[in-house]
Amino acid sequence: TTVFVSGASGFIALHVVNDLLNAGYKVIGSARSQEKCDQLLAKFKNHPSLSMVIVPDISDLNAFDDVFKKYGKEIKIVLHTASPFRFDVNDYEKDLLIPALNGTKSILNAIKQYAAQTVERVVITSSMAAQLNTIYMNDKSITVDETSWNDATWEGCQTDPVSAYCASKGFAEKAAWDFLKENKDQVKFKLSTVLPVYVFGPQLFPEPSKKVLNTSSEIINQIVNADKDTELMQMNGGFIDVRDVAKAHLLAFQKDECAGERLSLYGGMFSTQDFLDIINEDFPQLKGKIPVGKPGTGKDVIENSYKINNERTKKLLGFEFINKRDCVDASVQQILETEGKL
Ligand code: NDP
Repeated sequence: TTVFVSGASGFIALHVVNDLLNAGYKVIGSARSQEKCDQLLAKFKNHPSLSMVIVPDISDLNAFDDVFKKYGKEIKIVLHTASPFRFDVNDYEKDLLIPALNGTKSILNAIKQYAAQTVERVVITSSMAAQLNTIYMNDKSITVDETSWNDATWEGCQTDPVSAYCASKGFAEKAAWDFLKENKDQVKFKLSTVLPVYVFGPQLFPEPSKKVLNTSSEIINQIVNADKDTELMQMNGGFIDVRDVAKAHLLAFQKDECAGERLSLYGGMFSTQDFLDIINEDFPQLKGKIPVGKPGTGKDVIENSYKINNERTKKLLGFEFINKRDCVDASVQQILETEGKL
């Protein structure tokens, strides 16, 4: 069975590709340049079941046409993970909203045009960001579940990069479900979406030279590399381990009962202080070097945050998520290893 993975070079996608190869699937991945394709193939030691294609920019509404023109008769499963997740942008429309939305539209249109009868399952990597408008993130009276949607508007979300990113994920996911409604007689595939909260855990291929990690992993990287007097930015939200996110991408298309579902991947809440507490306790070599903050006060921050109910998803997926301490420890362990500090 052949699986197409867009944005294969990403933090999450690399784990997905690895799990697919280990499970015996044939994988066609996309990345933005020849260089990125070659690097990825080399990292997987030119695995015989892995090939790569270039898709330079998902903002282009025809971005995926060539891929599906060429391989459409072979691809049975499509995992669309590519989408910009970065906050260092100025033009919210061009850098976040348009690529997220057009990427989803272009991949689904390419399937419709060139692989309507062959693609059986599509999984789109959405986000918890698609479930809740950022303005409610610290409203403790709110609980989101698999039916919740970010209600931000295209104009209204363009106040800051976090709001624009979150809204971009909502628009993109909504477009996918709308596409399916409008085209249900013209395509064969069943759709599932995967909605992770902040994703942490190890990089599949740690790179010692990489100073800045992907947006979510960078949160832990900043803590590990903070000087003890640094005023860390206080963050809070849900956490999930990348290894569970990858597993869920496979189950999303393997399990019949996941078809038509939004899968909310949430392992629990975290705050910056929780991470500080865990890291200071578990990595004695960092004691005195990184901040301690106010130990034990993380739970107060969490108490004042929105809540998530993902009981439905947990039942559908049927596996236990990696806990906060194991997730954080694995992330930190790897950072220290690559920096030669272990
Ligand atoms: P990465 O930044 O590592 O991966 C994003 C991928 O999308 C990269 O392969 C990137 O390519 C590609 N991409 C971005 N913009 C474009 C574009 N305009 N054209 C073509 N490709 C593009 O982040 P993650 O692995 O964390 O994110 C993967 C998915 O998971 C995204 O859809 C993200 O929204 C979602 N997600 C992530 C969460 C997290 O905490 N990490 C939480 C919830 C959802 P390149 O490397 O060349 O830039």
